Amino acid sequence: MVRGERAATADLGRLLLPAIVVHGGAGSFERTCAGDGADQLERGLAAALAAGWAVLHAGGTALHAAVEAVADMEDSALFNAGRGAVPTSAGTFELDAGVMDGTTGAVGAVCATTWPANPVRVALRVAEVGGAPDGPVLLAGAGADGFAKAAGCKQMSRSDRPSDEGKPGQRAAGPSSETGTVGAVAVDARGRLAAATSTGGRRGQMPGRVGDSPIPGAGVWANSATAAVSGTGAGEAFVVAGFGHRVDWEMSNGQDVGRALGKALGAVAMLGGDGGGIALASDGSFAVSFNSRAMARGWRDSSGTVTRILPSLPGT
Ligand code: ASP
Repeated sequence: MVRGERAATADLGRLLLPAIVVHGGAGSFERTCAGDGADQLERGLAAALAAGWAVLHAGGTALHAAVEAVADMEDSALFNAGRGAVPTSAGTFELDAGVMDGTTGAVGAVCATTWPANPVRVALRVAEVGGAPDGPVLLAGAGADGFAKAAGCKQMSRSDRPSDEGKPGQRAAGPSSETGTVGAVAVDARGRLAAATSTGGRRGQMPGRVGDSPIPGAGVWANSATAAVSGTGAGEAFVVAGFGHRVDWEMSNGQDVGRALGKALGAVAMLGGDGGGIALASDGSFAVSFNSRAMARGWRDSSGTVTRILPSLPGT
């Protein structure tokens, strides 16, 4: 296939309000799913859904539900975020996260953090104190670390971080298509939407490199009039395509959530990027789309929990 012609796989459905959809990255997952790795990942997704669902079930906001789901995946060490983040080429860890409330427009993000255990909670604090027009919206590096300390966030301790050997399928070092960026989109009982995304970036990335995950309008975006979106994959292509904004724009022009997500992923594929995304609208309609071999994802509403890694079989 040539650029732009990669087939995308999709799950489409309609959830009862409130509801939450999560992902644990798009990629090949061949090594990750070796042994009981696939079961571990699906359990990790289910735990994240349970964490987000607990907030929604108690009448909490979509924003807090999305943050709790992502924080759970940051803590699990199964994914490329928080404890499980992959190293840069220098062997360091630089973590990114972003959150957005689709109703208030509150948005906050951090990138290249080294100190906090849960970058998504720091991003939430940025959203609470900052935002447009005066900011901050995005804090980087030492500034983000200093903000996290001052805000009383929890520190990542060295012993919290397991070695790669402890991960499902014993991930090998070196560049790989084993990705595990995490994200969540949620709708609360009042139809308010929110999104959150967190990552360790690309394995072996250049120190200082930042991808799409913390960039509002790229790897994280929410607008309660259209959709909440979280992306994962080749971050540069998601940034250049304006992935999250693209979903929003397509829906503003009358596309449903599935078509809008597919078109946005098509724009990423035109740039040679692979990956996937999740999108949820305020009526509970949602879509998962990916042009990689697999994508770890799941969703939950009052009717139950679904988790998947491989493409869905027709009719499932
Ligand atoms: N999109 C992330 C980044 O480019 C990585 C990923 O999703 O695998 O940093």
